[in-house]
Amino acid sequence: MREDRKETAKSTASLDRIRHDTRMNILVVEDEDAIAAPLVEGLQREGYQVSRVATGADALAAPLPDLFLLDLRLPDMDGYDICRQIRTRSDVPIIMVTARGEETDRVIGLELGADDYIVKPFGVRELIARIRAVTRRTSNRPDTSDGIQSGALEVDIRGRRALVNGQELPLTTKEFDLLTALAADPGVVVSRKQLLQDVWDTTWYGSTKTIDVHIASLRKKLGTAVAIETVRGIGFRLRSDAE
Ligand code: CA
Repeated sequence: MREDRKETAKSTASLDRIRHDTRMNILVVEDEDAIAAPLVEGLQREGYQVSRVATGADALAAPLPDLFLLDLRLPDMDGYDICRQIRTRSDVPIIMVTARGEETDRVIGLELGADDYIVKPFGVRELIARIRAVTRRTSNRPDTSDGIQSGALEVDIRGRRALVNGQELPLTTKEFDLLTALAADPGVVVSRKQLLQDVWDTTWYGSTKTIDVHIASLRKKLGTAVAIETVRGIGFRLRSDAE
């Protein structure tokens, strides 16, 4: 029984990988033709299947792609709303496209469940590196493990659900990944650098602020039974009561 489940998980994972490597479907949501056209062309040249829409309404109405490349400044809708609406129905990777200097945008976007962002202007090569990193990360999520149980906290990794005292928490994608990274070894300090690598696949120093934002909202959702302790200058440690 258990073996069967593992086999199924394994074959699903490899199917996912094949799909990501070859005929991945990307939806470019971008209102400016001058930006969208070379992007679509460049991605197609790399073998991706690319569709493009120019409005938020069209993005939400389109068939669900394997990855969204989402411009935050669209004529009809706020990119955050689009992000939020996508997340209510799917875990599909989202890469936000932001303008230079809009750091608040990025933090909010990541909080709403975007997986990564790219800053205009950017080249197709950089974009492809981001796409590969995001898909590697999302397909490498530890989905073969059954879960983590630590005191009041229970993490169902395959179901991507976290429960405290049996109560499911409404976590964003990143919050869930962050909690999983911390809960994998309860009581052990996980460094900021490690979290950036595991959860964001980056070593970009500016994003440590992003960690703080996510830790803060995660703490709020965890309540009092599960604590994330700050270890100054190093990182964070998870403590769960009722051991
Ligand atoms: Ca725009």
